[in-house]
Amino acid sequence: MNKLSLRDLGVRGKRVLVRVDFNVPVEEHGDHFHITDDTRIRESLPTISYLREHGAKTILMAHFGRPKGRSVPKYSLRPVADHLHTLINHPVAFSHDTSGKIPEEIIAHMQPGDVTLLENVRFQAGEEANDPKFAEALAKLGDVYVNDAFGAAHRAHASTAGITKFIKQSAMGFLMEKELKYLRGELEKPAKPFIVIMGGSKVSDKIGVIKALMEKADTILIGGAMANTFWKAQGIPVGASRFEADKLDLARDLLKHAKAKGVRFLLPVDALEAEEVKAGTRKRNTGKVVEGHGISEGWQALDIGHATIALYETEISKAKTILWNGPLGVFEIPEFAEGTIAIAEALAKSNAVKIIGGGDSVTAVKQAGLADKMTFISTGGGASLELIEGKELPGIAALSDRS
Ligand code: ADP
Ligand code: MG
Repeated sequence: MNKLSLRDLGVRGKRVLVRVDFNVPVEEHGDHFHITDDTRIRESLPTISYLREHGAKTILMAHFGRPKGRSVPKYSLRPVADHLHTLINHPVAFSHDTSGKIPEEIIAHMQPGDVTLLENVRFQAGEEANDPKFAEALAKLGDVYVNDAFGAAHRAHASTAGITKFIKQSAMGFLMEKELKYLRGELEKPAKPFIVIMGGSKVSDKIGVIKALMEKADTILIGGAMANTFWKAQGIPVGASRFEADKLDLARDLLKHAKAKGVRFLLPVDALEAEEVKAGTRKRNTGKVVEGHGISEGWQALDIGHATIALYETEISKAKTILWNGPLGVFEIPEFAEGTIAIAEALAKSNAVKIIGGGDSVTAVKQAGLADKMTFISTGGGASLELIEGKELPGIAALSDRS
């Protein structure tokens, strides 16, 4: 980790441009959104508070949703500026434009300790295109740059990567450092046994991660729809369950690879099968899937069964390090959330280092009310997977090296 850190910068009196991840989950109410989980905003507070306390002028840049390079009013960051105001107990100026005269004038009036938020950078086509002209226009607004947007660090966009070419010093923020500490540092030489729990919808989303983790994991526990693809690959009937027909060879390769590496690769031994993916549908436990007929014709496996829960709980109780990515069933429907909740509870009880990697698994842990029982919960979805896979993230690679 030889990149410059926020702590290395002299920020007093300077205009510090900070890329943050304010892409928060929301609920749509007609023409506007209501923030349902402000974790990402709160996680940026250590960096923002540090800058304010050290007399910097903090200029925040962020994206929200997918406005695709056009100004879409419902994706405005204005409500986020108001919310941030309440969190830091200090006014947050809002610039309706991301570059040019409007932000320049607002910034010219800033005092040390003040905070300004720029409008959604993705309102400009130059953002996702990583257009040097837009990157340069953003860079003009500051003296130094800090990237604290871990969740966007796997994208080479103008505000996450391109901008560093036009500004003297670029450093990691505190959230970025924390994400790297756990997802890279802790997982570099994990305390053993190291157990990985992989679920979610598709094997294809996670091939790279599974392969990379086979180099280090002692045991991999599989759940979610991804388990169906592995069953099918071994000739176990999956009924009407969701699986990836074009990934059966790949699944067989992964199973072979696990064997060669001496990694225990466990598939569910039973399932909760149902007629439809909806509340109130007919459902039943399959009994041992591997020994019997698999999933019934016309039925779908929507959660791991009780025997699998017991098996996985035993494995989890032995672990010293646990990495979890992907729910074990269709947890959005309470009837199919039992397996996912049971696994979250097993983790909560364990004394291991427990790392939750991004996306829906994080939502599941929060829904179970167990977030504070985990060692670390990543704010990144795709970024956390790419980092664990060992990929270089453009948003980190672009920062200044420590000399
Ligand atoms: P994460 O965001 O944690 O990486 P994914 O996005 O890969 O997880 O997968 C989450 C989705 O997988 C959820 O929407 C969940 O409903 C779905 N899912 C989990 N198990 C099943 C299953 N057995 N059948 C169909 N969908 C499933
Ligand atoms: Mg997801």
